[in-house]
Amino acid sequence: MPIRKIASIGHPVLRQPARPLSRQELLTPAMQALIDDLIATMRDADGAGLAAPQIYEPVQICAIEVRDNPRYPYKPPIPLTVLVNPVLTPQVDETFDNYEGCLSVPNLRGLVPRYLAVRVSAWDRHGEPLDFVARGITAGTYQHEVDHLRGVLFVDRVRDPRSLCTWQEFDRHHRAAFVERVHEIVARWGS
Ligand code: ZN
Repeated sequence: MPIRKIASIGHPVLRQPARPLSRQELLTPAMQALIDDLIATMRDADGAGLAAPQIYEPVQICAIEVRDNPRYPYKPPIPLTVLVNPVLTPQVDETFDNYEGCLSVPNLRGLVPRYLAVRVSAWDRHGEPLDFVARGITAGTYQHEVDHLRGVLFVDRVRDPRSLCTWQEFDRHHRAAFVERVHEIVARWGS
């Protein structure tokens, strides 16, 4: 399970829509090895998620996992989830402003509006159907990763560019207020 290089903003692979997979292709040893590499690379980089285009593979696969994450210590835990050909459908009109970062956008964070509940329809890594609703902060994580499969980065969705900040300035000036909001959302939405 080699750790792969992560593409940075500016590389065209991050801007092209990823292609969907057939079950037959998903089950090939090459595609299963890619999924293992995606998970290993996400964990090595302390990502809350990683999408295949971020490791230069423009296919519709992403992985999400949150457990004691040093980059996002306030995020509620998410068990390891691999999504193939995912489709998200908002379940509410209400959004929250999520302070996001991205392994492909080094040392930058910004406020992005995200739906507070989305239905997730996808396959798992074995081609079995997944269908569930992601809520709260966790819903934001899903929307960020699936955006990668459409060629969209969080900076595209930042409504006010004045919210952009380095990780150090986030910690100094924005973190406390944001973590307070996160706790309110988790209390209300359970995740
Ligand atoms: Zn990202």
